[in-house]
Amino acid sequence: MTDKFDCIIIGAGPSGIACAFAMAKAGLDVVVIERGEYPGSKNVSGGVLYSTILNKLIPNFWQDAPVERHVVKKRYSILSKDSEMALELNFNNFNNPPYNDSFTILRSKFDRWFAKKAEDTGAFVLTETVVDDFIWKDGKVIGVKARREDGDVYADVVVCAEGANSLLAEKSGLKKKPADNQMITAAKEVISLPREVIEDRFNLEADEGLTMEFFGDAVKGMIGSGFIYTNKDSLSVGVGCPISVMKKRNMHPNDLLDAFKSHPMIKKFLRGGKIEELSAKMIPELGYKNLSRLVANGLLIVGDAAGFVNPSLYREGSNMAMASGVMAAEAILEAKGKGDFSEAGLAGYGKRLQESFVMKDLERYCDAPERLAEAPELFKEYPDAILKMAEGYFTISDMPKREAQQLARRHFKDKVSIWKFLWDMYKVRKSIL
Ligand SMILES: Cc1cc2nc3c(=O)[nH]c(=O)nc-3n(C[C@H](O)[C@H](O)[C@H](O)COP(=O)(O)OP(=O)(O)OC[C@H]3O[C@@H](n4cnc5c(N)ncnc54)[C@H](O)[C@@H]3O)c2cc1C
Repeated sequence: MTDKFDCIIIGAGPSGIACAFAMAKAGLDVVVIERGEYPGSKNVSGGVLYSTILNKLIPNFWQDAPVERHVVKKRYSILSKDSEMALELNFNNFNNPPYNDSFTILRSKFDRWFAKKAEDTGAFVLTETVVDDFIWKDGKVIGVKARREDGDVYADVVVCAEGANSLLAEKSGLKKKPADNQMITAAKEVISLPREVIEDRFNLEADEGLTMEFFGDAVKGMIGSGFIYTNKDSLSVGVGCPISVMKKRNMHPNDLLDAFKSHPMIKKFLRGGKIEELSAKMIPELGYKNLSRLVANGLLIVGDAAGFVNPSLYREGSNMAMASGVMAAEAILEAKGKGDFSEAGLAGYGKRLQESFVMKDLERYCDAPERLAEAPELFKEYPDAILKMAEGYFTISDMPKREAQQLARRHFKDKVSIWKFLWDMYKVRKSIL
């Protein structure tokens, strides 16, 4: 290993590898240092990969990458204790390349493949190595302290792509420790099922995929949601809620996941499945106004470590991570051209972010977490009241329909203030749709 690189990247997730790929392609000497046994080993379980950026880096990547299914169906549902109200959307056009840039993936397979692509392009990926700290000299980051013998490694610039648990970014002073209401704690499992069962149960053909999001009683009426995503021969199943809410209710993410899985509307989707993996992770929802400083002399922060996750219904994290990684690479190439890796020399990173969907979307949804926190009724009282009213509408009895409907509406009005309900719906539409 050389003792000085053009760039050191901490973390082999989507942001770090996209950054490494773009720089290696431009001919820079790049090392990615990853604490896991292999890229993705610390990111077991799955999610939806939004791939507009990946498709630019590796055109038609799906022909080679270990993607599971392309998402053609999206289902959103609200649960009460014993009922469900769901909206399912099915888009045949998403069956055509580039498949709406939405694929279910299993991170342990995908991250490994993506890192191999960066290696093939010339990047060096060093695994099973924890970075403990940055090396500073005269107010500039000049390398990192890796936890191994002779572990000091030097570079012109360091990219911190360490993910949501951003201990190094916090240590650098660029980022404040996020508050409990700015972090989602999530538990997820991969549950295996035969491919034919998945296709029959979820009405899918060939490699079509479905994502399902569940609110309300899915997470005990708390702010947050549960999800089921279809993979080829498994389901990714999980729940996530803000740490502050979980602490208040004295709940553990794994207990919440067990409760979700045993909800009467959920357990039938999972019937006969076998748990293959369980993991717990965090998702940053810092909000646009609370983002960290992104650049210092010799240092850039990308991906989840910087807080780049869209908190709305789009739930875009991986694409923002890759976009920020690529923009960091472009800014570094620009800085190298000028021979200036100071904060001013790397300022192209911030400029690119501001002009891209990353900052525009974060700004658009800047107050989603606060708006939702202001209306806890959205997750418990409203779903219960709406579903009870719907049950009243559709319960068959000898009562004349007009009377039955009036009774159902009265029940709703007794439980919910209509004006507050309409106001909350207006705020939700503005902040998360
Ligand atoms: C339950 C859950 C569901 C999600 N679902 C979706 C989804 O459906 N779609 C979506 O787009 N996004 C989703 N996300 C968010 C998405 O996973 C992240 O936005 C994305 O992974 C961020 O990429 P990253 O490269 O910034 O960080 P990460 O993917 O977290 O990668 C960081 C890497 O750095 C390594 N690392 C950390 N510290 C060190 C250190 N000190 N030394 C060496 N290595 C280190 C880690 O091992 C890890 O490999 C989900 C997240 C969770 C938790």
